[in-house]
Amino acid sequence: MRSTMMTDPLTLNAVLERAERFFPAAEVVTRRPDRSLHRSNYAEVARRARRLAAALQKLGVEKGDRVGTLCWNHYAHLEAYFGVPLAGGIVHMLNLRLSPDDIAYIVNHAGDRVLIVDDVLLPLLQQFQDKLDVQEIIVVPFSGAAVPDGFRDYEALLAAAPDAPSPVDVDENDGVGMCYTSGTTGRPKGVIYSHRALVLHCFALGLADSLAISMRDAVLPVVPMFHVNAWGLPYVCAMVGAKQVFPGPHLDGENLIDLMAREQVTFAAGVPTIWLGIAAALEAADTPPDLHPQLRTIVGGAACPESLIRRFDALGIGVIHGWGMTETSPVGTLCILRDEHGALPEDELYALRAKQGALLPFFHARVVNENGIAPWDGETMGELEVRGPWIAAEYYENPGAADRWSEDGWFRTGDVVTIDPQGYVKITDRTKDLIKSGGEWISSVDLENALMGHPDVLEAAVVAIPHPKWQERPLAAVVRTDGSDVDEAALQAYLGERFAKWSLPDAVVFVDEIPKTSTGKFKKSVLRDQYQDWTWS
Ligand code: AMP
Repeated sequence: MRSTMMTDPLTLNAVLERAERFFPAAEVVTRRPDRSLHRSNYAEVARRARRLAAALQKLGVEKGDRVGTLCWNHYAHLEAYFGVPLAGGIVHMLNLRLSPDDIAYIVNHAGDRVLIVDDVLLPLLQQFQDKLDVQEIIVVPFSGAAVPDGFRDYEALLAAAPDAPSPVDVDENDGVGMCYTSGTTGRPKGVIYSHRALVLHCFALGLADSLAISMRDAVLPVVPMFHVNAWGLPYVCAMVGAKQVFPGPHLDGENLIDLMAREQVTFAAGVPTIWLGIAAALEAADTPPDLHPQLRTIVGGAACPESLIRRFDALGIGVIHGWGMTETSPVGTLCILRDEHGALPEDELYALRAKQGALLPFFHARVVNENGIAPWDGETMGELEVRGPWIAAEYYENPGAADRWSEDGWFRTGDVVTIDPQGYVKITDRTKDLIKSGGEWISSVDLENALMGHPDVLEAAVVAIPHPKWQERPLAAVVRTDGSDVDEAALQAYLGERFAKWSLPDAVVFVDEIPKTSTGKFKKSVLRDQYQDWTWS
């Protein structure tokens, strides 16, 4: 028998409506490029998001069309987060840290019809604009300067637009957001989020025993809005009426501390590298800045070192460690302690807090290894497989990557984990051949292939080695061809012509051979162990 319940769809449009209706004065504050503060609120965001939607429709955007954003975290990006869906479109967040070649590929693969770009990012756009197949480029005059000829001016477009878009029929399973993830091999792969997925993700994150975000919070997403919906925070905040504080392009410790103090931020989110910088700046300060006494943080995107949790505790700032992926909207686990943990000895408590945490409601996990499904005993390792209502079931137009899902429909994360009897996940390794430096991926395979294309290199393997600031940095182990005496400087110069500077190996070591598995694959775990304690100069 069917229920007698209504089936109103779960949509982000309803989230915006709620923010406008119930929290019109809750603030949205942005640090502009010149460091001045731009102040807005949910009434204003909703009014402008509707105009943006109407303007996009006038430009021809129809239901399901992709609108790319190449933007920092700010008010206009938030307007696009809601305005593009109001027009029926899909907001496609472009990672401005990727290589120009990858960004161009992603825009074209997604079929973005319109791009919204910050004026301060035009120099980046110009590096690949000639490869793009988009109809319109809208420029946000974020710096306050006039928008150059040849582009549409975001503000002028909004000023000339009707107050509201033509209504679009929305099903909760319609696409609403899109992000690409860097793969182990091959080109980045696209994920399309649905209204339903993002709304349920909001509920799960807001819960009291999750991030407990409420209308009394002032939330600073340091995590970029081009990284998986800024971990969903802009949507959670709008749903509950929390103030939002955006750092614009200013992501250094000093600026972030200043912003947190000025705006009395109670909750901030970012990758460990950001927090390492903030901890160092706070520890060095002669006079402690006037931070909100209840300030807490979520640290994720890469492993949060236990030492960082201890340092923040000493500074009186709470840390929640979390794990997620582009394919999981992103948050899947949060390390929230339970009452029973109160009795643990200090060292065990910190070891627990450094785990990636327990599963959010409706987020299911299993550990799979060569013996099948592993027990949750905190010891048996295997690949983490997940399923749930905000986890991708496929990639966009990429049937070749179908092996990322098991035959019975679980998503293979590529993270090697243990899960303890209480359900806390700990990442111990990664099957993906990727290095995560400061929250951004570097492909070891791409570096290896390039190195092995050098006439003096016989073999090369690139591995992730722990780094005090960036969590991981690439180290290349190279076997020279017979008789060659090629040196590190020559190889670095060679790679420098092909890769962004920040993604080059920090060290090249010359070895007699690369350790291999019985099937002849590079056994990178041996290299990782061997260079684990490498001292970075
Ligand atoms: P992305 O899709 O770029 O968000 O990257 C997702 C991947 O980042 C995961 O599969 C992990 O390998 C890594 N990751 C995310 N959060 C954490 C964490 N808290 N600890 C360790 N690795 C993490």
